[in-house]
Amino acid sequence: MRVIRNVKKMQAISRSLKRGGRSIGLVPTMGALHEGHVSLIRASVKDNDITIVSIFVNPIQFGPSEDFNQYPRPVSQDEALCRKAGVDFIFQPSASGMYPPGFKTYVDVRELGDVLCGAFRPGHFRGVTTIVAKLFNACSPDCAYFGQKDAQQAIILKRMAKDLNFPILIKVMPIVREKSGLALSSRNTYLSENSKRDALVLSGSLKLARELVRKGARSPALVIKRMGNMINSKKPAKIDYISIVDNEHLKPVKKIQGACLIAVAARFGKTRLIDNITVRP
Ligand code: AMP
Repeated sequence: MRVIRNVKKMQAISRSLKRGGRSIGLVPTMGALHEGHVSLIRASVKDNDITIVSIFVNPIQFGPSEDFNQYPRPVSQDEALCRKAGVDFIFQPSASGMYPPGFKTYVDVRELGDVLCGAFRPGHFRGVTTIVAKLFNACSPDCAYFGQKDAQQAIILKRMAKDLNFPILIKVMPIVREKSGLALSSRNTYLSENSKRDALVLSGSLKLARELVRKGARSPALVIKRMGNMINSKKPAKIDYISIVDNEHLKPVKKIQGACLIAVAARFGKTRLIDNITVRP
């Protein structure tokens, strides 16, 4: 496994691998790797000749009052995990390498980036799409792996790849959870034991939603209300949103039918957590 820190070098390596007929899988991450990331890496290692994991805490996707500085950066632990998982290259550029002085170009997927998390984190998805486009150009993958954990991100990136004609297959892998139901996230390390217990209410509310839909509930308002009541029963939880939307355009559905994404975001103290499920009544 090699660690590459320079964009031009990564580009030269990936292009030469492609010329040699090797398929490349890319797993973009911000590091602080956990089993959720590992599931993406495993899929890439299985599907491709070469796997590149990018580790980059992308400053432009954090708002001014967000956790860019505190974001965990356990570099040697991440390297060991990648080596063990069979990664060929870690691409770990510097912020000044990715955004040198004079940088002016952004990728903005309109509308999809303004709803759900986008409404609470202005500019976040523009930061995500910009960095992922740059990672695509640096690594020339055949296939890129993302997690359903960030469902909105995956939908936006699929749109971007299509709209900008990136010849890259976007694969979205299922959410990996703790036994308790809590979706794995690098931000879980911010949670105290108590907050972690409280945060279980998010996956709990999604289970409740699934159960209500299974029993015949078709009204989004009713399901959202029941989920809201459950989450609010935990005092420290502050709901940002609970939404039931279609899987492509992220528009609120009038009736629960076909595949619907039920997505929730809430804050526990300073930690903002998200979770979702897809229901198909
Ligand atoms: P991050 O490092 O948080 O930017 O995440 C990098 C990738 O890992 C994204 O595509 C995430 O959706 C994915 N990911 C994060 N947590 C999980 C999880 N619990 N299960 C599956 N994928 C995940």
